[in-house]
Amino acid sequence: MKKVNNLILGAGISGLAAAQCLYEKNQEFVIVEQNDYIGGLCASYNIDGFIFDYFVHFSFTANELVRGYFDVVPYNSHVPNPYNYYHGLWIKHPAQNNLFPLDEREKAEILKGIKNRNKYSDVWSDNYENWLRYQFGDYFAEHFSLAYTRKYWAEDAKNMETSWIGNRIYQPSLDEIRYGMENSDTPVTFYAKEMRYPISGGFNNFLKPIIHSESICLGEKVAKIDIINKIVYTNNEVYEYNNLFSSIPLPELLNICDSVNSDESLRQAIMDLHWTGGYIVSLGFKGINPREDLWDYVYDDDIFVSRYYSPSSMSCQSVPDGCYSLQAEIYTKDGTDSYDEDDLLNSVINQLDRMGVVRKSELVVKDIRFVKYCNIVFDHKIYQNRNLIINYLSSNSVIPIGRFGEWEYYWSDQSFISGYLAAKNLLNCD
Ligand SMILES: Cc1cc2nc3c(=O)[nH]c(=O)nc-3n(C[C@H](O)[C@H](O)[C@H](O)COP(=O)(O)OP(=O)(O)OC[C@H]3O[C@@H](n4cnc5c(N)ncnc54)[C@H](O)[C@@H]3O)c2cc1C
Repeated sequence: MKKVNNLILGAGISGLAAAQCLYEKNQEFVIVEQNDYIGGLCASYNIDGFIFDYFVHFSFTANELVRGYFDVVPYNSHVPNPYNYYHGLWIKHPAQNNLFPLDEREKAEILKGIKNRNKYSDVWSDNYENWLRYQFGDYFAEHFSLAYTRKYWAEDAKNMETSWIGNRIYQPSLDEIRYGMENSDTPVTFYAKEMRYPISGGFNNFLKPIIHSESICLGEKVAKIDIINKIVYTNNEVYEYNNLFSSIPLPELLNICDSVNSDESLRQAIMDLHWTGGYIVSLGFKGINPREDLWDYVYDDDIFVSRYYSPSSMSCQSVPDGCYSLQAEIYTKDGTDSYDEDDLLNSVINQLDRMGVVRKSELVVKDIRFVKYCNIVFDHKIYQNRNLIINYLSSNSVIPIGRFGEWEYYWSDQSFISGYLAAKNLLNCD
């Protein structure tokens, strides 16, 4: 058995940031990570000279602490320019104030829906579906937002609450909606104005300044946590710890924590958590990118892909000379991996080819992989369930960190801050 003062579970950005803070304060730590690579969702991988990420990742943080580390890495700066694919049309993002490409019938239907939206004025906060109907009217909600919710969140909007929305969804005035129906020269209203991406090495390169490889044990999956006796068992080692930071997704506690299983209300709370898993399809092509958007959204429900992006548009160094690349995201409910990977891969290639965003004849690299935890879903019971679980962990001296440890809609910078501040608070220093 190894004795460690600070044990960190997971070498994603939150675990690395906790370690970084401890490192700066000359504290010892060990990180155990189940994968054979560092970075979690912020990792990148190289296939035949094509560099890919796990789902689209840019940094748009304004946080000075995080920028202090990220900005050491040379990066490209992009203005967001996404489009929405809707029944063969390309509509600038966000669609609600960029409806110029639609025909007059659909524009009239949308305006009619907006005119009648006050019928939701008393119920808009009850659930995400009502919120969408109140914001955008029935027609837009049904044809755009509700359809996209089923693809991206793998959930019906009526089963989701609304407090996560914040500035993530643009809420234009009626004048802006009308203007966007009549004109194509609308301003950028995306919630971030600058998207940063490393010049080389993929998104993972932003993490380089905070990686202390000598203290990271790769390929070590936590198999059991004995919270009472402060012991962690991995497939390779047994650790006795003083302080435990965990970025392991909360639902995994059912598999690794006996004391959680013996408490029925806790067990039920964990079983009631919802999230999405996702397939990431990675494609490399020899030729010229037919559509150089950084990323786009796909609304049609007969197309698997929710969103795709082009690593080669983010940095030309992410592909060999004369090549381009594209990655596509497909989400599933609660991390189920029910698709046959080869079938899905081939269907996605054919669909992207038909959409005109790639040329199948130029394909030189193809890959598909599944990630069990992507986005947490804000169902109606998320807060009560999460509080119960986090309180239990905290009362047993486990410090939850990161997107899945805290079960929060964190971007990479927020996950960084979560880990860093948790360590800083523990050391009680400023
Ligand atoms: C689709 C998508 C797009 C995103 N886009 C952006 C973006 O553009 N910009 C941005 O800033 N953020 C983005 N994010 C958010 C960002 O990816 C996360 O905030 C961040 O990566 C979470 O880091 P983390 O350390 O909390 O979790 P993770 O990265 O999941 O790290 C947790 C680590 O714990 C390990 N682990 C789990 N179980 C065990 C176990 N039993 N034993 C050992 N190790 C274990 C995992 O392997 C993993 O490495 C996006 C996320 C998604 C899903």
